[in-house]
Amino acid sequence: MAFFEMVRTALRTVMQQPVTILYPAQAAKKTPISRGHVMIDESRCISCGTCQRKCPAQAIIISKEAKTWQIDRLRCVVCNSCVDTCPVKCLFMDTQYTAPVTARSVDLIAITYVKPPKPEKKDEPAQ
Ligand code: SF4
Ligand code: SF4
Repeated sequence: MAFFEMVRTALRTVMQQPVTILYPAQAAKKTPISRGHVMIDESRCISCGTCQRKCPAQAIIISKEAKTWQIDRLRCVVCNSCVDTCPVKCLFMDTQYTAPVTARSVDLIAITYVKPPKPEKKDEPAQ
């Protein structure tokens, strides 16, 4: 019985169209919830380090001193954990995939952010 089941499955799949596409030659289908790659609105980041701590792949490196937020896109497994846990919601998931690369040297994409300047305190009115 198992043999006939296997033959039936093989014949059925031979008649079907491939379920895969020739990415990147063919564009991948995307939906509003597709996970492409993590992006940051660096002006809103408060350097809390939550995304770095929650990343299961150690793909994010933050330096408060250098004011940098870096992501290694070849380490990132696109789990969305950093996006979900960022307290100020300055991370978001772009639906576009990162462009394919063939060299390890271009894997580290460093985005430098500058903290927004604190609003100046207004002088107290004289009494
Ligand atoms: S999506 Fe997941 S793996 Fe990628 S940087 Fe965020 S937490 Fe790390
Ligand atoms: S969790 Fe958000 S605010 Fe905190 S360091 Fe990461 S990107 Fe910046």
